[in-house]
Amino acid sequence: MKPTLFLFLALLLSACAPATATNTPTPFANTPTPSEPTATVSFITPIASATSTPHLGAETNALFTANNIQLGTPKCNGKPTPAQTEGPYYTPNTPERNSLLEPGITGQRLLVVGYVFDENCQLIPGARLDFWQTDSNGIYDNAGYHLRGHQYTDWEGRYFLETIYPGEYTGRTLHIHVKAQATSESDMLATQLYFPKISDNTRDPLFDSALVVRLETLGETLVAYFNFVLAK
Ligand code: FE
Repeated sequence: MKPTLFLFLALLLSACAPATATNTPTPFANTPTPSEPTATVSFITPIASATSTPHLGAETNALFTANNIQLGTPKCNGKPTPAQTEGPYYTPNTPERNSLLEPGITGQRLLVVGYVFDENCQLIPGARLDFWQTDSNGIYDNAGYHLRGHQYTDWEGRYFLETIYPGEYTGRTLHIHVKAQATSESDMLATQLYFPKISDNTRDPLFDSALVVRLETLGETLVAYFNFVLAK
């Protein structure tokens, strides 16, 4: 075939091509398949919810407001919160939540609230607090995550824990365990919070008066105030 004839036939064929092309998707290598938009949406959603900023938002305000809690002006003495043994009952990978209340848990409702500061008395947003405690009978859930959970302080360095007043167990006065960390690179502080006017406080060798919460009664609820000072 002569080149001119070949060119003519090629032009003729290409002129006829649109009828076919409108029915056949152009096979661009990067064109998404129909399933890809769905995959993109489900990809965006976890990213949005997994970012660390949601804990720092306005929902903490709603928790304080709904519970009539006013933390007042932050007060800080700059003294690092004393460390305590974490004991044998910590379970890692706790759920992130402000409330440890679940169906089946009984006891007196307790809110534990306060600020987290660094040693220069600067409030720390995004500090991680991981709480664990016994139920009202003094028993830890060592198989699951009842009465265990972590949370992050909000933009104002505040935390809000809803739980129950802990129970007693042999050899210890009433306490709530907590691991606290200013940032993911900071040292982890393991410590315990204690309650005022508990006779066993003086008999427990681990008890530290610097770790006693300020306790108030708010209707049926107890409110424990405690500010942490963490190394950054
Ligand atoms: Fe304990």
